[in-house]
Amino acid sequence: MKEISDMTKLKSSVIESSESNRWIDAKEEWTIVCQYKSESLDHCACGHAIKNVVYIYNSLTDVHLKVGTTCVNKFKTISLKGIKANGDATPLYYIDESHDNGVITTWEYNFIRSIWGFKKPSPKQNVIKIKIYNKIFKGLNIK
Ligand SMILES: [Zn+2]
Repeated sequence: MKEISDMTKLKSSVIESSESNRWIDAKEEWTIVCQYKSESLDHCACGHAIKNVVYIYNSLTDVHLKVGTTCVNKFKTISLKGIKANGDATPLYYIDESHDNGVITTWEYNFIRSIWGFKKPSPKQNVIKIKIYNKIFKGLNIK
């Protein structure tokens, strides 16, 4: 599926959740949390349906946004190449926090910690991993 991007909507969503009111500055405030394949259709900040979700985070406003693989390239400071090179870029912070808040069970927590950072989990591990990440991201306050 080729993702289309609505730049006007993307810019207004991002600016709304940024400290700066200008796109040129606002887009610099965001960093990638992780890339993630959704089980069902999700939505990019630009409004279009996406399957490959990239979570981006703004530490100034403490807001998470979901964008697609096309829109993420509109940000100068973040690139898909960067997350691909880092493999699983989900910070342990999110995993720890989800366990502390009871979003994931201790078994799920131990499982994710044991495979965290592996570039290629087995297909079976991947299915479990996706389920756990779905719970983690549902538990986060992501717009
Ligand atoms: Zn988009």
